Amino acid sequence: MHTDKMYPWQTAMIQAITDPAELWDLLELPPAILDEAKKAARLFPLKVPRRFLERMEKGNLNDPLLRQILPIGEELAILPGYDADPLQENQVNPVPGLLHKYHGRALVTLTGTCGIHCRYCFRRYFPYADNITGSKGWGRILDYLASDPSIVEVILSGGDPLVLPDNTLKQFIAALETIPQLKRLRIHSRLPIVLPERITLEWVNMMAATRFQTILVTHCNHPNELALELARVFMPLRHAGIMLLNQSVLLKQVNDTVETLVKLSEQLFAVGIQPYYLHVLDKVQGAAQFDLTRQTASQLHWEMTKKLPGYLVPKLVCEQPGMPAKLPIVSSDFYTD
Ligand SMILES: *Cc1c(COP(=O)(O)O)cnc(C)c1O
Ligand code: SF4
Repeated sequence: MHTDKMYPWQTAMIQAITDPAELWDLLELPPAILDEAKKAARLFPLKVPRRFLERMEKGNLNDPLLRQILPIGEELAILPGYDADPLQENQVNPVPGLLHKYHGRALVTLTGTCGIHCRYCFRRYFPYADNITGSKGWGRILDYLASDPSIVEVILSGGDPLVLPDNTLKQFIAALETIPQLKRLRIHSRLPIVLPERITLEWVNMMAATRFQTILVTHCNHPNELALELARVFMPLRHAGIMLLNQSVLLKQVNDTVETLVKLSEQLFAVGIQPYYLHVLDKVQGAAQFDLTRQTASQLHWEMTKKLPGYLVPKLVCEQPGMPAKLPIVSSDFYTD
């Protein structure tokens, strides 16, 4: 019998934990809140790779990694000011699978699947089923890109594009390479942090072989997500010419202290990654328990700025529908004119 070779990362994805009862068991969590968790997981399923649990503390509901993936009763509250589509992405969606919001770059979602489900995610209600085309829809995406000479950068985002097999990525990148004006290929993915074995030699070689300048933007929110061994994963990517950046989301009771944020920047850099963005939360329904005021965010950011070299300070930004860029949040307290 012929079977395609299954990589360890693919097996790990299939074996991810999706049953709240199993998570409760493995991490010895209080049974009293399991029922509510099951309800929350019906709205947005639980999903976490097994190995990621090794970086969490058993029995600690406040563990900063656990909080990011733990379905809880608070998610069920419908609160004013929190929407299902806070970014109004439906309006910048000219063809299925493509978002064109900013000058010079377009974001392509080849898949709606992620390797982990982050409870604060603004895409938790995105109608992926209508928007993910499979390779049938590639033609329309490629036509759109080719028809707009102002687009020089393609961002593969998601979902998480690295849940796709290398062959699929390779075919899509080959198609992009036939569009002459494209210069840069960027991949946004949470998998390299959560499931580092995703970074296969084949993947690195594929990235090194394209004619594009390549950028990998990881998504890491807390220093506990980083083990120093990750330097072994990321340094070879730098040597292969891939620029490594990170985006984080500022999350209440996860990374909302100066010490945590400073340590995060330092440790990202230690494994070869430069901090890029620190996003304030998008106000998506079910994520209010992670929200902080802009005032608090800008204060934290200023405290960080005082403790780090400029190149380790991520830009603090928020997304405002209709704006031509992510908006920088700066404290106005210090201007004198
Ligand atoms: C965030 C985002 C980008 C990338 O923005 P950069 O500022 O270039 O990192 C591009 N397209 C969409 C739709 C986005 O949401
Ligand atoms: S899109 Fe990113 S933030 Fe959202 S669930 Fe997937 S991995 Fe998490």
